[in-house]
Amino acid sequence: MATATADPIPPHKTFDTILVLDFGSQYSHLITRRLRELNVYCEMLPCTQKLADLEWTPKGVILSGGPYSVYWDDAPHVDPAVFDLNVPILGICYGLQEIAWNFGKNVLAGEKREYGHAYLKVERHGDGETGGHVDKLFQGLEDDAEVWMSHGDKLSHLPDDFVTIATTKNAPWAGIAHTSKPYYGIQFHPEVTHTPKGKEVLKNFAVNICQAKTNWTMSKFVDQEIARIRALVGEKGQVIGAVSGGVDSTVAAKLMQEAIGDRFHAVLVDNGVLRLNEAQQVKETLTAGLGINLTVIDASERFLGRLKGVADDPEKKRKIIGNTFIEIFQETALKIAEEAKGSDKAGEIEWLLQGTLYPDVIESISFKGPSATIKTHHNVGGLLEGMHLKLIEPLRELFKDEVRELGTNLGIPEELVWRHPFPGPGIAIRVLGEVTPEQVRIAREADYIFIEEIKAAGLYRKISQAFAALLPVKAVGVMGDKRVHEQVIALRAVETSDFMTADWYPFDGAFLKQVSRRIVNEVNGVCRVVYDITSKPPGTIEME
Ligand code: GLN
Repeated sequence: MATATADPIPPHKTFDTILVLDFGSQYSHLITRRLRELNVYCEMLPCTQKLADLEWTPKGVILSGGPYSVYWDDAPHVDPAVFDLNVPILGICYGLQEIAWNFGKNVLAGEKREYGHAYLKVERHGDGETGGHVDKLFQGLEDDAEVWMSHGDKLSHLPDDFVTIATTKNAPWAGIAHTSKPYYGIQFHPEVTHTPKGKEVLKNFAVNICQAKTNWTMSKFVDQEIARIRALVGEKGQVIGAVSGGVDSTVAAKLMQEAIGDRFHAVLVDNGVLRLNEAQQVKETLTAGLGINLTVIDASERFLGRLKGVADDPEKKRKIIGNTFIEIFQETALKIAEEAKGSDKAGEIEWLLQGTLYPDVIESISFKGPSATIKTHHNVGGLLEGMHLKLIEPLRELFKDEVRELGTNLGIPEELVWRHPFPGPGIAIRVLGEVTPEQVRIAREADYIFIEEIKAAGLYRKISQAFAALLPVKAVGVMGDKRVHEQVIALRAVETSDFMTADWYPFDGAFLKQVSRRIVNEVNGVCRVVYDITSKPPGTIEME
């Protein structure tokens, strides 16, 4: 079973880092997003983090919002050691209440819940008794600011040694600050876009108050990540990893290639259900284009053989493809490991590359409640039983758009950097019903035309994901004066920012007409084209 190994140069040791302690708010990850956008590096940990276990010192700490009430018996509380770190602290919503609770247990349920827009009135104190530091959080903001609130609890009174720095009609302590220490609390959410000047507030905190350097840039990240990989893998260590042609695995692979050259072995498994010409294209881009040491395994027959006869259970298709993939990757890894042995330039394969992104990490560490156990991060490490591979995850600190920026920095072609997501089971779950080579051909050709037209219309980047699916029914048509009884292609195209909810894309009629005309004319076996106008929910993005 693979295990994570101590990281020789974690980013929080290189970059000034703001620590976000998550109390379970649905917006916690947005705090980290906003800080990153300000080029300030930050990491999120659950609110239960014991600070003595932290091997680094943050430049400042943000306590997030959360669904609990601080006065509940089982409410989560921050390690009181946070107040001994001698760094600035900002509490947001529950975080504000948590600070107040620490300074005098003065939080109770309000009579009115406050949910939505509110007008913040900033109160400034000048240099007087507080030396002016209390004004720093709202520096540069107008005295009236639109903010977004979502809370039911409120302070019963101002804690000792604090001053009010902002009020709203409903919240007399919408902003508070300690008179001598850099502790701030705000009842509103600066991380959501409904608080237009929220980012300024976070900037005031991170940059002006914590004095965090704004040096989290992709080129800095590349240099430091390459150094980190080299230190981790050592002079001779070798790494293996699967690539799919998607942006994450390609960027991760390119980073490995830059760091350790051919001691990184990329494996592309052609499962027979990739897009039209895809295996060939990915091979060319990764090898000739990016210089990656790539092995392509054509396993189409094994995959398609096992999919034969599986008609009405999409889960079964997914399982067959997943298991066959693991089997083939394992065989290939063992073969490569055997060949790699005994060379004086390189040692054994010890590492498995994974393209884990920060949202997966956040998902696994975010605070799920006082009684809920925190889910450990899933990995495929276990799949290489017996090889004892350790995991290497060079993208684990990055968000998707940061990965794209990194890809561009590394010279990866734009077409690949902006590629729509493609599911692991590929075309197999876009052929509804039984997957046969003939059905795959039809779905592939139709998909190719649809995507080609989307690109030609300049819509590819606007649309988040698009594909053609082959329906398992036949319809009657008339082609060349002859009655035909052939299949139906369903087109799907959605816009979404997070893939959790999605809406179908409103193409204009002329565009749809052109796509439909081409598919019926050019793809043998299709006599009708329909457009899927279901949003998610209730639909899913893929059809199986
Ligand atoms: N549960 C707390 C309240 O209702 C905090 C809410 C929040 O952090 N958004 O006031």
